[in-house]
Amino acid sequence: MANSPGDNARQTVAAGGGAPANAGAPAPRRARHSRLTVLSGPSGVGKSTVAAELRRRSPDIWISVSVTTRRPRPGEVNGREYHFVTGAEFDRMVADGALLEWAEFAGNKYGTPREPVERRIEAGLPTLLEIDLAGARQVKLAMPDALLVFLEPPSWEELVRRLTGRGTESAEVIERRLAAAKEELAAADEFDRTLVNTSVDEVCRQMVTLVNSNH
Ligand code: 5GP
Repeated sequence: MANSPGDNARQTVAAGGGAPANAGAPAPRRARHSRLTVLSGPSGVGKSTVAAELRRRSPDIWISVSVTTRRPRPGEVNGREYHFVTGAEFDRMVADGALLEWAEFAGNKYGTPREPVERRIEAGLPTLLEIDLAGARQVKLAMPDALLVFLEPPSWEELVRRLTGRGTESAEVIERRLAAAKEELAAADEFDRTLVNTSVDEVCRQMVTLVNSNH
């Protein structure tokens, strides 16, 4: 596992130094907030396969279900992989501030519903987002405490093979996704951890360790 320069740079720091302003008063109940974990990486690298496998193996890790304007792929179920919405519905959610982050990717919009994520973090539950680079950057700004994990393909050739072999996208969409992938791969060192997707099993094991140690 390659580690980024950001490693260990953002350990949780105890809040405040010196005597608290309310010294002598009963201690306030400590909020049991958990830290958010974000899994990102180029389209086709296998993030959603890892997320699906994590859902199966570790139901205690809650994974956010995004909203998207993309059409469902064969086998995708509304409310499971995504909440599939119209462009107007998506825009309304943005206007209402209902999304924690959102981005346009290869011609479609994707976003994370804010309320369920905030509720889980406040309850101290392990919480994971599977989102693109633009979304990961927004989360880092909004929640600097979040742990950002980047999933890398074993090689560029393997990523091309996975994206073209999926058979669910047109040549034009694949081209757009490959162009985005180049940009996303160049951003790996903005992340706290990098995992190479040589095996879904291994990546899942590493993710369980990371999410639980981050919690
Ligand atoms: P796909 O169409 O292949 O399911 O997803 C395309 C890209 O959008 C992937 O990189 C995926 O991780 C990302 N994505 C999925 N949900 C979200 C989201 O809620 N926010 C953002 N920013 N990206 C997302």
